[in-house]
Amino acid sequence: MDPVGVAAAPDAGPGPAWQSKCPWGAPNTTSISCSLADVMSEQLAKELQLEEENAAFPEVVAVAEGPFITGENIDTSSDLMLAQMLQMEFDREYDAQLRREEKKINGDSKVSISFENYRKVHPYDSDSSEDEVDWQDTRHDPYRADKPTTTPRKGFIGKGKDITTKHDEVVCGRKNTARMENFAPEFQVGDGIGMDLKLSNQVFNALKQHAYSEERRSARLHEKKEHSTAEKAVDPKTRLLLYKMVNAGMLETITGCISTGKESVVFHAYGGKSATEDKVIPPECAIKVFKTTLNEFKNRDKYIKDDYRFKDRFSKLNPRKIIRMWAEKEMHNLTRMQNAGIPCPQVVILKKHVLVMSFIGQDQVPAPKLKDVTLSSEDMKKAYCQILKMMQQLYKECNLVHADLSEYNMLWHDGKVWLIDVSQSVEPTHPHGLEFLFRDCRNVSQFFQKGGVAEALNERELFNAVSGLNITADNEVDFQAEIEALEKMNEDHVQNQGKKLPMFSSDGDPPIYNE
Ligand code: ADP
Ligand code: MN
Repeated sequence: MDPVGVAAAPDAGPGPAWQSKCPWGAPNTTSISCSLADVMSEQLAKELQLEEENAAFPEVVAVAEGPFITGENIDTSSDLMLAQMLQMEFDREYDAQLRREEKKINGDSKVSISFENYRKVHPYDSDSSEDEVDWQDTRHDPYRADKPTTTPRKGFIGKGKDITTKHDEVVCGRKNTARMENFAPEFQVGDGIGMDLKLSNQVFNALKQHAYSEERRSARLHEKKEHSTAEKAVDPKTRLLLYKMVNAGMLETITGCISTGKESVVFHAYGGKSATEDKVIPPECAIKVFKTTLNEFKNRDKYIKDDYRFKDRFSKLNPRKIIRMWAEKEMHNLTRMQNAGIPCPQVVILKKHVLVMSFIGQDQVPAPKLKDVTLSSEDMKKAYCQILKMMQQLYKECNLVHADLSEYNMLWHDGKVWLIDVSQSVEPTHPHGLEFLFRDCRNVSQFFQKGGVAEALNERELFNAVSGLNITADNEVDFQAEIEALEKMNEDHVQNQGKKLPMFSSDGDPPIYNE
């Protein structure tokens, strides 16, 4: 290549002949269309490619910044993620080797040594392995080392009169120096560890304090970074999780994001093959990722805290696990609905805070919400009748109240209404279950009354029709007071008898308590 045209061909250039022959002549005027910096710019290359892609695939649903994961192309633009995946592989092998060595050395000996401190605990695996409960793979975690055995500490060393206690200045100083090894690896302690250095308690304690606060600070920074990425799409942990699903062949391609809400991000994916024969993965899937940004979930406490199905577990859980419980709740509720024949997404798999279900819609285009679709008056009436029936089924057969039912969470697909978004659904005997039901009824009544359905019951009539309760109050205030009184009665009954009142079931049968 000849970028500046110094040794240009004799016939090149408009200048006089001597110029083109003479190496010191003016360069020919062939213009260089862009600067070297531009050619080297990865950003420009990416932008151009994006432009090209957008021109080629204009119909693709508007996509938020999300992972585009396929079998061959695993988001290779993220070097960080690839590096993490490789590192994880490596660390696993390394730890396995360490454990083998440890075993070999220890044998049956009563005194054992531990290589615990040499293990590579990968940041993206370390905190997830211990509470990985919902993934198929529930066998004993092979990456967890056994607890190292320690010899009980004594307050002195030596024999007879010459007892040196642990309070001895020299022993203590050396010990303190050795203990610096326990600080985080990033913490610079110099090379004093190899020398016969004696560190006074006072100095050691000050250092220790500093080391810990440094560690906490870096953890906080790390957390912040994670959360900001979760705002846009999903955090690296979730990406890895999605990658695993594609890698396992369960999903073919994750095409893009169909919704980013406050509490969840929903992706579209093409289904792959199931590992087991009996399970069929739908051709198109929706992946609901419950956001691990905890803040948004704080105001949802009341749904789950009082749900007796989750009561025992709630108190013991950390916030990360509580978010998984939302995903778990959605899965259980969808399964109940599916069993009752209510049109709703079918559960494919639950993995931590990620729920994969069948996609309502076609060719990557999700079915419209009722609020976004214009139905003929005939379809509108049909939809209303269907919803009335679904609400009754949900209450009586599934023993559930949707608790967020509105035109936002009903999709119109295949000439019928599909219910979605049931992570917050509760049983009618939930301490606020009837209030939630009343709110659902109000949303549904208002939507269909405004939509011109003459048959639409008002909210109080709808409430009675769904619950089978016969609340007679003819105004909203009294009606709500009666609802709250019923809820309280039930709570008192639970307190005293440990059982729920049978009144919530219209035919006198107590609701089903167990799954
Ligand atoms: P959120 O709590 O964010 O409201 P949703 O479960 O309602 O979560 O999902 C958000 C949006 O994603 C829905 O309004 C719908 O458009 C889309 N969506 C969710 N699940 C599915 C599905 N199974 N099939 C098609 N679209 C879905
Ligand atoms: Mn929703």
